[in-house]
Amino acid sequence: MTEPVIDVQNLTRHFGDYIAVNDVSFQIQKGAIFGLLGPNGSGKSTIIRMLCGVLPPTSGTARVLGWDVSTHAEEIKRHIGYMSQSFSLYSDLSVIENIQFYGRIYGLSPERLAQRTQDVLDLTSLGDRLDQLAGTLSGGWKQRLALACALIHEPQMLFLDEPTAGIDPVARRDLWDLLFQLAGEGVTQLVTTHYMDEAERCSEIGYLHSSRLIVCGPPDELKQLENVTPPGTKRWELTVEHPTEQLARLRRNENIVDATFFGDAIHALVRDSLDEQGLKAVTADPTTEVRPIAPSLEDVFVTMTRSQTDHDRHVGTTHNAESSREVPSPPVAASQTKNAPAPVSVTQTDQETAPKTTASPSAFFGLMAILLKEFSHIRRQPSTLFFMLVVPVMQTLIFGYAINTEIENIPTIVYDLDGRQEARDLREAFQNTRTFHIIGRVTDEESFRQAMTSGQAKVGLRIPPDYSERLLHQEQAQVQVLIDGSDSQSATAALNTTNLLGINLSLRRTRAFVEALPAVPARNAEGAVAIPIEMRPRLLYNPNLESSHFFVPGLVGIILQLVTLFLTSFAIVRERELGTLEQLFVTPVSRAGLLLGKLMPYAVIGFLEVLIVLTVMVYVFKVPIQGDLLQLLTLSLLFLLCGLGLGLLVSTLAKTQLAAIQFAFLIMLPSVLLSGFMFPRSEMPLPIYTVTFAIPVTYFLEILRGVVLRGAGIADLVPHITGLLICTMVIFTISLSRFHKQLT
Ligand code: ADP
Ligand code: MG
Repeated sequence: MTEPVIDVQNLTRHFGDYIAVNDVSFQIQKGAIFGLLGPNGSGKSTIIRMLCGVLPPTSGTARVLGWDVSTHAEEIKRHIGYMSQSFSLYSDLSVIENIQFYGRIYGLSPERLAQRTQDVLDLTSLGDRLDQLAGTLSGGWKQRLALACALIHEPQMLFLDEPTAGIDPVARRDLWDLLFQLAGEGVTQLVTTHYMDEAERCSEIGYLHSSRLIVCGPPDELKQLENVTPPGTKRWELTVEHPTEQLARLRRNENIVDATFFGDAIHALVRDSLDEQGLKAVTADPTTEVRPIAPSLEDVFVTMTRSQTDHDRHVGTTHNAESSREVPSPPVAASQTKNAPAPVSVTQTDQETAPKTTASPSAFFGLMAILLKEFSHIRRQPSTLFFMLVVPVMQTLIFGYAINTEIENIPTIVYDLDGRQEARDLREAFQNTRTFHIIGRVTDEESFRQAMTSGQAKVGLRIPPDYSERLLHQEQAQVQVLIDGSDSQSATAALNTTNLLGINLSLRRTRAFVEALPAVPARNAEGAVAIPIEMRPRLLYNPNLESSHFFVPGLVGIILQLVTLFLTSFAIVRERELGTLEQLFVTPVSRAGLLLGKLMPYAVIGFLEVLIVLTVMVYVFKVPIQGDLLQLLTLSLLFLLCGLGLGLLVSTLAKTQLAAIQFAFLIMLPSVLLSGFMFPRSEMPLPIYTVTFAIPVTYFLEILRGVVLRGAGIADLVPHITGLLICTMVIFTISLSRFHKQLT
């Protein structure tokens, strides 16, 4: 006998305390269609995932095409096809794009890809729908496409997890015709199904119940199992008028071992002591029709499941308790593996099984395929493009223009009780500072207060009735300035301007008097009276104190992180959620190829964004780049890498897109608030200030502002560059160690 294509020995898989697959053993010969049956949750998909090398077994061994799944998963992946339980192709790619993507992933040469594409299109009759988007196909056609993709590389072994679930009967029959055709061509298949009629078509079936393989063998042999129709019993089909009542009646009879509905009829397992007439008599209905039958597969499964559960109950085992040793082996009809030989190294005499060694593929195997596919996704999703290219420009404009921290035109209300020239001068002096904007005058105390409490005015100027009078008589005049302190920034500006204005006006009035004195405190270069000390502040780098100079360079960093973080984490998590990632894991694509292929498009887009935002900064906001542009771009690349790493990290933490959004926000929030983008870090309390060192964008903002505003060079920025390098390396190390080509 030739080496079986699949050889499973005592395969077991735990998920925490739960045993999803318990001590399962079976073999599949070449060209067979092996049907794996069992209720939902019995472990079918888990077995397939282990055989495909994407889920490591907890114990036991499984060999596929001669290779052990635990040690040679990548070899196996090159020679098998896998159709996962749910539709997991790319809905936004067309039929032909999906097929060619899988062809490239398996590394087919262009000529072979063309040939194989034609072959699978002929087989599945998809030729008329090449340009239809996969998402718009009907159920049956989706499955054909999935089959076409699974067959593109001519696998010798095909795993089909519930391929006919949810498709109509005609499509179901057509798909099975295809499977028979493939079996005829020597493709071995493992199919899971819920349908008994499909089970009948398999060359061999295994029935799983509560994570255990209960029976295994060709359908006809299973039906003849002794346990199914024990000696001294027979199976009968009864056609009765009132099946419900009759079933209860039959079950009460001690000579009837078992009775179950079967469509409109009842199937009963009856002791030989009850013959045809006796059975009819039990129903007490002369119209009852009775005929002897062979057991159906359903009968087999029902009986075997029942005897297994009875046995478990009898020996006191609970479902999923690991006590399989006490349970006698269930009658495995066609098992050749009662005493499984130790897995021996297989000599490859059978030329149809895979060669033992194939050239090891490069570390970046599959990169081009993934890359091309990512660009197709981006092309098909204009909203992504909008998000990537228009939003950054909008953000820059909003931050540059709208968020203006210069405080001007604070609405000011005047209550002038004097009204003469001196008071008019004072009002004008307030208006001329540009900090205040006089919005109106009131004539009574009540309205003055009202304007302040309503928030209409932020500053209230009250000039007393004797203002001019007192000045004229050289007495001190007091002016009341009420400032709304709720907005601390405007209030501070108003307070400073008010104080300065008071000093300036006073100095101006005093000068004439001082001039007449015999000695003066100081004189300026022209010999005029002056204040003794003159401060001459000079603003470097941003002489007009424009807030856009502070915000816009920082935006490059924030936007770059926002886009790379969201897009990369989404690109990966979306595939995980749709199930296409699992499908990719079953292909020979390398980890590096998969990651680079997914990350590179977003790196390119991120870099494009840097260029766009810098252009807007220089030409719209007139913030020139003082330092070296090339250095700035190089350091941006480093930060880009860091952003991609963060995206990757999120994708390893989040199982769903919703979770990805939440994680991404969790990262973005401190990046915006604590990195020094909005508020100066030096003002933060020490514990928070310490935290800012763990935020990568902090370093990049220092670099950006350094290069753009101060003309700093690499040498000036060493501490920040080092910080960024360390962050990037730490993030990549963590996320790479978490990202495996496996489902666990
Ligand atoms: P089937 O395909 O027969 O419906 P599965 O193999 O999908 O069943 O699942 C078998 C059992 O293992 C189920 O109870 C399922 O909840 C559990 N299971 C499957 N995958 C996981 C996982 N990754 N983590 C935890 N439990 C799992
Ligand atoms: Mg399943």
